[in-house]
Amino acid sequence: PGALVQVVFTQLGEMVTATQSCTDETLQLLGVTLGYEVQIVSPEDEDKELLESFDLSFGGEYGDDVELAIRPPVVTVMGHVDHGKTKLLDAIRSTDVVGGEAGGITQHIGAYQVRATVDGDERPITFIDTPGHETFTAMRARGAQVTDIVVLVVAADDGVKPQTIEALNHAQAANVPVVVAVNKVDKEGADPAKVRGQLTEYGLVAEEYGGDTMFVDVSARNRTNIDGLLEAIVLTADASLDLRAPTGTEAQGVAIEGRLDRGRGPVATVLVQRGTLRVGDSVVAGEAFGRVRAMLDEHGGQVTEAGPARPVQVLGFTSVPDAGDNFLVVPEDRVARQIAERRQARERNAELALSRGRPTLETILERMKEGEKTQLNLILKGDVSGSVEALEDALLKIDVGDEVGLRIIDRGVGAITETNVMLASASDAIIIGFNVRPQGKATELADREGVEVRYYSVIYQAIEDIENALKGMLKPVY
Ligand code: GDP
Repeated sequence: PGALVQVVFTQLGEMVTATQSCTDETLQLLGVTLGYEVQIVSPEDEDKELLESFDLSFGGEYGDDVELAIRPPVVTVMGHVDHGKTKLLDAIRSTDVVGGEAGGITQHIGAYQVRATVDGDERPITFIDTPGHETFTAMRARGAQVTDIVVLVVAADDGVKPQTIEALNHAQAANVPVVVAVNKVDKEGADPAKVRGQLTEYGLVAEEYGGDTMFVDVSARNRTNIDGLLEAIVLTADASLDLRAPTGTEAQGVAIEGRLDRGRGPVATVLVQRGTLRVGDSVVAGEAFGRVRAMLDEHGGQVTEAGPARPVQVLGFTSVPDAGDNFLVVPEDRVARQIAERRQARERNAELALSRGRPTLETILERMKEGEKTQLNLILKGDVSGSVEALEDALLKIDVGDEVGLRIIDRGVGAITETNVMLASASDAIIIGFNVRPQGKATELADREGVEVRYYSVIYQAIEDIENALKGMLKPVY
């Protein structure tokens, strides 16, 4: 087995790590073959480590010494197309008399906050201003858990539809409680009871039927019973969620929207999830970083701080963060920049690895498993024709049995050109350069195409490497 270990590691070291990617399964498989336990580090873990190296962390449990305050629920509106999601969000927005007076017309920044009056108390609620489950799932796919409660809109004249169920499935998969807004009750043919009956089949049983889901009949168009809906949201939050967050710590949250504004540069709406964000804070959001120059609320008014569940538009990023990016305040600009740059580099590498779909360890192992003959294609370039011939002769003499083969698909004298790289790319070949350098943009192209170029100035070293690679392609013998 000693030889096998060396052979496989040669392959991993010489042919995979250098320029190629392989999947988790391949690595696991390799690990099993070698009798090692392979630990796969997820991007999340990698990011955690990155933050830890700066003594930072994102999310997680609160320490015992951290004081928690009740925070508003964050709500996403979902439902079948044309059932009135947009109209409902507009209607809810217009109920915010207080905000309206303070700052005028509500602008679209990706989220807004309104106040509901419940038992004489003013209770804020944050709404994500992009209806539909696409945003919801896209954020979730990126690991951002933003929504506390889903308002499922069902048109009373149309009843439960495929996207109603789809939205419900997403909410349930995320373990998020649902409040049903039975909309369009003003319409002729509206049958709110039927909607209740239909949803019972999907596990949503109305309170009046002995279940624990609140159904609220509304008309988004006439703005009827919007108060009732807001109250139901607050009551559902109080009944099934314990929404608390610290306000005294440095802010963390999620970017929910971003764009490049002609006058103001990159603007990003962030939803603070814990702590308090302040003007002047150094922040990093995904691969973007900056310092909070100003913050605007949904009425376009300047704010100096934002606490949990507060959406604010942040000015001061040097680039636009993506929706779903986690953001956090860091001690200084330098740290923000370094974290962002390390993430950028990681992303570039990942993209590069993806583009290198060519002769990976995986495909080789795959073909080996299927018992197919494997072939290593080479392109040889040398400084003089003598050395190219010598190299070719020696390579063709390598004998590793007939299970694997070596083919020299092209040879030539002179620098490695873009044409060489393209041929290598098209034929899954590796380029061997003997006493030559790349010309023009050949290296860049090779990087982009995932073509491996190896340089030698000693023939026997080239032979040895290729021999090892070929052996690595051999089926392990037990
Ligand atoms: P979305 O696709 O779910 O966002 O649906 P919209 O909000 O765009 O509404 C679809 C259509 O239904 C529009 O023509 C709205 O004017 C209409 N609509 C929405 N809510 C109501 C309502 O409560 N009553 C009536 N009669 N029409 C409504």
